[in-house]
Amino acid sequence: MKRIIVAIDGHSSCGKSTLAKALAKTLHYAYLDTGAMYRAVTLYFLEQQLDYNDPEQVARGLAEIEIHFERIEGQNRTFLNGRDVEHEIREMRVSEHVSPVSTISAVRRAMVAQQQAMGKRRGIVADGRDIGTVVFPDAELKIFLTADPDVRTSRRHLELAAKGIDAEWNDIYKNLLERDHIDSTRADSPLKKADDAVVIDNTLLSEEQQLEKALVLAKEKMV
Ligand code: C5P
Repeated sequence: MKRIIVAIDGHSSCGKSTLAKALAKTLHYAYLDTGAMYRAVTLYFLEQQLDYNDPEQVARGLAEIEIHFERIEGQNRTFLNGRDVEHEIREMRVSEHVSPVSTISAVRRAMVAQQQAMGKRRGIVADGRDIGTVVFPDAELKIFLTADPDVRTSRRHLELAAKGIDAEWNDIYKNLLERDHIDSTRADSPLKKADDAVVIDNTLLSEEQQLEKALVLAKEKMV
């Protein structure tokens, strides 16, 4: 069977990573969480108190950052300069700054180059905002996921609680809409459906149902 690239884009917290992880596991493919990379950059800027509105400080920060992923006990973990930051990058303080940081072209250029290198051998499922449009425009399968904002907020709330991260439902809701707005209206690589992407609205779908739909689509492309 042909090894393909599956690109999954969509709004914040609509289940992209859940679908991408399940699909990668079923197909024995690598999973690439591009949002985690933008989150790791944001965490670094916050920790080092770098002003991300200053291009010089951004360039300095980017030159100092090394991001990689490791699988530990079946979990995908994000490493920033050798430190496991999987937990910290999900915190609200990072969520509040990650979309402005992601509008910076220098940041995007650095992340996209790394993502494209990781996809060279294909056999990868990547999720984000610009995967089907910019990172892997030649992906064999492109999925654009959507879901109702209330449902997205409740899912995120549960997910954070499960990780022991305490956040108010309303704060999460506001953050999701704010990120959607910034991500969709930025000049560089805005979130939009690629012309050849298949839309899946998972508001009323279970995780199993959305996986089933995606698997049918993937298998069609693998022959
Ligand atoms: O996917 P996740 O919600 O963790 O992504 C965090 C943020 O990173 C998004 O709100 C978006 O601003 C940015 N992002 C991006 N391009 C991607 C992935 C994420 O701009 N490919």
